[in-house]
Amino acid sequence: MGGSMFVIKHFEPGGFVEKVRQLTKEEQSLLFTASKEQQELLQHLYGRWIYCDCPSPVTIRRITRSNQYHLAKIHGRPPHVPTCPFYSIVDGEQAGSEGNLSANNTSYSFSQHVNDSNTITGAYDSPNSTRVGRTDKLYTLVANLFDSAGVNRISLSNPPEFVSQVKGLRKAAIKYSLGSKPLRDYIFFGMGSFKEAYTSLKEREKLWGGRHKPQAILLAHVEAVTHDDSGWTIKVKEDWAIKLTKQARVTRLNGLFSLTKGPLLAACVISDINTDKKQPSKYGISRCFISPLVNSKGFMIVDSDLERTAAKVATRHILTNQSSAILEKPLLPVMVEGTPVLPDFLIKKNGVTEVVEVMGKWDDPIYQSRKNNTLPLMLSLFGTVSCVGKETSKDQDAYYAECNRLFASKI
Ligand SMILES: [Zn+2]
Repeated sequence: MGGSMFVIKHFEPGGFVEKVRQLTKEEQSLLFTASKEQQELLQHLYGRWIYCDCPSPVTIRRITRSNQYHLAKIHGRPPHVPTCPFYSIVDGEQAGSEGNLSANNTSYSFSQHVNDSNTITGAYDSPNSTRVGRTDKLYTLVANLFDSAGVNRISLSNPPEFVSQVKGLRKAAIKYSLGSKPLRDYIFFGMGSFKEAYTSLKEREKLWGGRHKPQAILLAHVEAVTHDDSGWTIKVKEDWAIKLTKQARVTRLNGLFSLTKGPLLAACVISDINTDKKQPSKYGISRCFISPLVNSKGFMIVDSDLERTAAKVATRHILTNQSSAILEKPLLPVMVEGTPVLPDFLIKKNGVTEVVEVMGKWDDPIYQSRKNNTLPLMLSLFGTVSCVGKETSKDQDAYYAECNRLFASKI
């Protein structure tokens, strides 16, 4: 994979690239493993940079706490081309950057009047929905709200249950604003409250002036989302579908999941969808973020079908064994010495936290390199990382059995 790579002295954008030597093929593949040898190589190269054919090379970082080395990109520099093995290496030094990853993001607006610059599009576009990063505005609203309400945690005292989780979400919404109005007054749950959402907006539209347009958020469990030439359709249930306008934007994260195999969360922005601004407003879904849900009652969102299976198995072990363990799905990265780290799952039991990583696309070298790069960071943060799916992700029964074994031992 990839072409030749060189060890270089130091890198400044636009500056002269001073090559020290070429990396051997063995060293090059070693970079993308999680091994003692990889750590030794990175330690040996520490202070140098590694140069591929892309405009910006990668640097080597060391985590003081654990003395672990990892590759890092400098935030804000040009990305690597998708075929480069460094493509998925995470940015260093993201703290304080405009892509705000912290949990104190409490003000949101989805007006067309306000610049939507927080959204990542372009390279992520697919014939399906547009893929967005974790700095996407609608994703960060959902992630922060869910984290505040604790619906991304499952335990005996916080089982996946619609009524109690909606109550928790409403309470958490107090902290957030939507178009400078309290989110609590403009958040709705379940597609059954769709009509209530838009009549409520219609009634209160005169309260909205200035730069924000009337808007509301609706969070609904749905079965499928489909697309054809006429646009998107949200299939809520067997005999209930909602057709979106052609202008409606549908986004999702990059994980491998089926849009036609629910339960899915549809996080919808409801605003004026009338394109002729001289006409009276007409409220509908203007934007929608789709994510797999672990089950049809709770609000734990996951990144992929494989993660859904893992979380289902873990939930069953917690509830049937009456275990004191808590399953948590972290939604926002934490910074480890300047690098964002986001474990797939955490299991918390008796004061100990363990990471569970779902290795979905283990045969994909880019995926492998990303995981191998973040595993040392997770180790330094939590001490234990268990992986599931490395060998079994293609075989449903074997994967299920592996999840079952793993969680039986952890929960
Ligand atoms: Zn590159």
